[in-house]
Order: sequence, then structure tokens, then C-alpha cells
Amino acid sequence: MAIKYCKSCNERMIEGLYPYENKEWEEHIDIDKMAGHKCFNCGIIEFDEDIEKDLEKDVELQKMLYQRKKGKDSPIYPIMISKVKNARVGQELTPKDMADVLGVTEQRFGSIERNNNTPNVYIALQLEKIMNVDIHDLYELVYIPSELHEKLKILNDKFEVIEGIPELLSRRDEIDLKLKELKGKLEDRRAEIKGEVESEIAEAKKKDSKKAVSSKDKREKISTRINEDDINSNISEEMKDLRNERIQVNKEIDRLTGQEKDEKGKGTKGKKNPKEGEVEKQNFLLRLGYCIDYDNWQKVQELYAAELIIK
Ligand SMILES: [Zn+2]
Repeated sequence: MAIKYCKSCNERMIEGLYPYENKEWEEHIDIDKMAGHKCFNCGIIEFDEDIEKDLEKDVELQKMLYQRKKGKDSPIYPIMISKVKNARVGQELTPKDMADVLGVTEQRFGSIERNNNTPNVYIALQLEKIMNVDIHDLYELVYIPSELHEKLKILNDKFEVIEGIPELLSRRDEIDLKLKELKGKLEDRRAEIKGEVESEIAEAKKKDSKKAVSSKDKREKISTRINEDDINSNISEEMKDLRNERIQVNKEIDRLTGQEKDEKGKGTKGKKNPKEGEVEKQNFLLRLGYCIDYDNWQKVQELYAAELIIK
């Protein structure tokens, strides 16, 4: 490290660890001493800028992550980059070699490599040993802006946003919002009817004390009145239509993203033993909602460089 002289008295400063305080960092990082230079003549301390900058980045990340804890949406989202295939090919190992050493089926290993599922820690640590690499050479976690994460979920094999999907997603959001609003209205209307019935019963009882009504009868009365209520049935109808539309929207999304389901609710494409090369066409780039192949990640970095910047 370079020798530093005090800007104030020109005395040579002494390198060491000195008490460090930063109110902004307090919640997120535990530091009491940090590397820097001190002038023992006038007490001035200058901390190492590089270290401070590095830590600043960590603190920024922590701040963004902890927004979720405060109930806010985090501006960043963790995705995992899978380099298992690259590592294996780089070492001229076949999928069969890997499966044999791991003691799993080739199919299971293939599905790990295609990121249709991620290995558990037990298998991941074995992969590390078998290929004699660091775990981070197999899997890497990066944070990307949440907006880009949403977009990655709807890219096709040409890394373009699948036509029609953004509109469908926003329609689905609209429906959800409307449904929530109607649900509130429905509850209000039902409470109103209940109140009416209750006060009618109370009125009748006031006039004639023999007119007391059992709680079972009261419940039945309320439910009959609700069923006969026009406002109530209109809202219910509207909700039913919206729910049906929502099902159609989801089906359309599944169709466009190649995730169509058959009658038994199982995926007909993509998921069931996809043939090599077929997967890319039929599935989202982002597997499992968070895992991306290394080569695809390279492409994303290239094409979406501007959107990768965390603001
Ligand atoms: Zn000084």
C-alpha cells in the first residue's frame, strides 16, 4: 500500500484498522474497524476507498433484499445460472459417466443439466467433487432487476418476448384486481342484507315477543334473502364470468409458452422427457422461474445489457 501523508499537517499517516461508523450501514453490516490510514498528529483517519466502495455495494444489496422484509417488493430478484453442462463438456465427460458416478439414472442427470430441476445440496456437492471444480463453477447466483426477471419468464427461443403474452398477463392482472373489488362489494352487500334481516326480526319481536326466531331460522332467512337479491346475483354473475375468462387467459398463456396441459392436468410438451433441442422451443428460458443455462445467460447479458443495470 502506498505511503500516505496527512493532508492537514503533512505528517506520515499510519496504516491500520480504525474505528468505523456509518449510520446508513448500521442495520445491514457489522463493522467496527476498517482498514485505513491515521495521522496521529491531528487524529485524521482516511479509510481505504476501494474497501469502502466494495462494502457500499454489499450494503446496497442488503438494503434492496431487506425491502421484502418490510413488505415492499424488492427491486431485485435472484436467479441462478447453471454451468453444469459446460463444466461436464469441458472435461469431456458424458452424461452417462456423470450418472454412473453419481449413481442416478441418466434421465435424472439430464434433467439436472437441462435445469428441469435443480440438484439438492447432496448431489450438488458431489458434482463439485466429481468434476473437481468449485461449486460456483457449476452454479452462480446473481441478482437482476425484478422487471427483467418478469421479462425473462416470457422470452422465446429467439430471446424475444413471446407475442401476445404481455397483453395476456396484464389482462390477468386486471381481472384479479376487478375480482378483488367485486369480492369486497359482495361481502358488503351480504352484510347489508344480514343487517336488514336482523333488524326486521328485532322489530317483529318488539311488537310480539312470541315472534322470537331461532338462529337456524335466522340463518336460513338471510340466505334466502341473499339468493333472491338482484344486486347480489349480478355481482356473483360478473365474478363467475371473470373467473371463466381468467381460466381462458391462463390456457392461452400456457398454449403460447408451450406448457399446454392435457385432460389429466399433465404437461403434454416440454416437461415429459423432452427430446434434446426440443426443450428450448417449448419452454421459458428461465426454468423453474429462476434457473437459466449459462449459454442463454450470456445471450441475455448481450441482448438486455441496458435492462440488467440495477437502479
Ligand atoms: Zn495530520
